[in-house]
Amino acid sequence: MGGDYIQLTPRQLRIIEIVKAHGPITGEQIARKVNLTRATIRPDLAILTMSGILDARPRVGYYYSGKSSQNLIAEELKRTKVKDLKSMPVVVNEHTTFYDAIVTMFTEDVGTLFVVDEDGFLSGVVSRKDFLRQALGQGDFLRMPVSVIMTRMPNIVMVEPDETVYEAAKKIIEHEIDALPIVKKVKGENNKEGIQVVGRFTKTNITRHYVELSEGV
Ligand code: ADP
Repeated sequence: MGGDYIQLTPRQLRIIEIVKAHGPITGEQIARKVNLTRATIRPDLAILTMSGILDARPRVGYYYSGKSSQNLIAEELKRTKVKDLKSMPVVVNEHTTFYDAIVTMFTEDVGTLFVVDEDGFLSGVVSRKDFLRQALGQGDFLRMPVSVIMTRMPNIVMVEPDETVYEAAKKIIEHEIDALPIVKKVKGENNKEGIQVVGRFTKTNITRHYVELSEGV
């Protein structure tokens, strides 16, 4: 997913289609199909083999390597929006106790909870690890409110619905987290601005997308 794409010309794309449909096929036969001479398409064939899209075998001809499927996946991830794959956010409020928050993680089957303030705006994130860290300490922690341990604004990493899956995946990797709230800026009562959680985007969404892409769903 390097992001460096070669710009293919319409003729090169046409050649790929021909090789996909008829490969293995000789350069001569390809030239005939595009009504050009072998010499004219030689640079195109060179580019396509050097970039790994086509493979060439002596006496056999050109065939489609399928290597460009990596580019296809990269393109797909840059085209797909997080809103196309999102899950429902699981939200608790700042006063939710550790106990209730942990129960919610089990009943909703999530590892990350988003915390909202009195206006319903995003104010924090708590994950499994936050509770485990706390469990190592002393005290009657099950009665404490999640706001004591949550990662809070402005340190929350978020995505907007129209960001791409690629951008979301990069944030997950760069910040070493499992889940991102999908958010929209909204105005609440008294024109107060805040951030509304409209979805959840996780490693599972990305993994499921990969599986579906691979199965051609
Ligand atoms: P887990 O606890 O299951 O390993 P993460 O790796 O996502 O889950 O969480 C690690 C830490 O990062 C926790 O302290 C958590 O509060 C914080 N965190 C999780 N998601 C976010 C986010 N979207 N923005 C900022 N911090 C986050």
